[in-house]
Amino acid sequence: MTPDDFSQLLEEARDEPAFSNSDEGIGWMDANCATCIHEKPTRQGREDQGCPLILVTLMGKRPIQFLDGPRDEHGRYSRAGHYHCIEYRHEDDGPTDPQPIPDPPGQLTLVPRDGYTGVRMWLRPNPATFPATPANAP
Ligand code: SF4
Repeated sequence: MTPDDFSQLLEEARDEPAFSNSDEGIGWMDANCATCIHEKPTRQGREDQGCPLILVTLMGKRPIQFLDGPRDEHGRYSRAGHYHCIEYRHEDDGPTDPQPIPDPPGQLTLVPRDGYTGVRMWLRPNPATFPATPANAP
């Protein structure tokens, strides 16, 4: 995923706001995007190279990369755990694109990889940072 993917990400996004208000959105981004490699350029002053998913949320849509985070028995969630972004990757984790092990030279390929590559599911930033205090509690 790169900033150039914005148009496609916006088109495939759900037509609903990702957050109910800016406070909820900023709280989630503080807990997730603040250490994500996709937002690192913004932290370095290159805002035009920032994460396109954040831009999608600012356009009033919910990226399909945002899966619901953990909920309690009443459907409540913590601000940091509102969503699990499948594109999250810690800025110290290395390259953003999958790095498949190359086929050994001179060997036949048993099963071609084409058609089997796709979006990788990364771990949440740190489950310990998701407090039990729900953001939508009455
Ligand atoms: S990929 Fe997800 S977690 Fe990372 S900056 Fe973008 S929206 Fe935030």
